[in-house]
Amino acid sequence: PSDTATAHADAGAGPPEGSSAGSALEARDISAWFGDNKVLERVSLAVRSGMVTALIGPSGCGKSTFLRILNRMHELVPSASMSGQVLLDGVDVYGPGQRITDSRRRIGMVFQKPNPFPMMSIADNVLAGPKFVGMRLGRSERDRLVEECLTKAGLWREVKGRLRAPGGALSGGQQQRLCIARSLAIRPDVLLMDEPCSALDPTSTRRIEETIQQLADEVTIVIVTHNMQQAQRVSQECAFFLAEEGTPGRIVEYGPTRRVFESPTDQRTLDYVHGRF
Ligand code: ADP
Ligand code: MG
Repeated sequence: PSDTATAHADAGAGPPEGSSAGSALEARDISAWFGDNKVLERVSLAVRSGMVTALIGPSGCGKSTFLRILNRMHELVPSASMSGQVLLDGVDVYGPGQRITDSRRRIGMVFQKPNPFPMMSIADNVLAGPKFVGMRLGRSERDRLVEECLTKAGLWREVKGRLRAPGGALSGGQQQRLCIARSLAIRPDVLLMDEPCSALDPTSTRRIEETIQQLADEVTIVIVTHNMQQAQRVSQECAFFLAEEGTPGRIVEYGPTRRVFESPTDQRTLDYVHGRF
């Protein structure tokens, strides 16, 4: 299949017919501003279901802003504005009648810095998401969910004997896996991860990568990473963002990760993945 069927880096082109097929989440013509500063210019990306999509590119090219637009966090910044559509199973999350909480139930997010509630128990951290979005669960359902999510996040065996210990008592890598477990507890369709390993040591990073690979079967993942090896290890699809001198961020190249790294069509992609800027 041609790359243009799923991504449209070309600012002028609208999405081709049928481009949503096989995509859980599709961004169309996203532009974004902070005040007068335009930071994204007509970015379109159809994220394929059941795959890991890596977003790569230099600092400041709008990757975090793009992720935050996908889950409606951008609008929480007072100076921020945007245009374009974000389709979740074909429904625009910014459409009339759509609420932020609708997005929150279906799109999980994990940040660079692990941010469990430090004083809250490990178990309650996992249950915080379901509670926040108003899911009603009985005691045994809660226990099952805690075990299931901690298992999926690769943390169960380490913490099963101390579920009442505070989240803040865990190591950095464990805290990040707890955050992954917390984001899974709402049973999201899509999991967004913004440089989830940047604050972690290599061993913790490897464990998170293994978790990502295992999760990919059941949840669609979009991960921002500065680590080119990581992008190649965990993702099947890859989008290269770039904001050239004084211009807003755009997607310069998109496609199967292997092709983007081994035979990119754009010289700037080649330079970036080889660390030349
Ligand atoms: P990346 O994640 O690729 O490093 P960001 O999305 O964080 O890029 O930033 C894109 C641009 O938007 C940058 O120029 C950054 O300075 C600007 N920006 C990000 N967040 C804010 C904010 N809260 N207020 C104003 N400008 C911001
Ligand atoms: Mg960022």
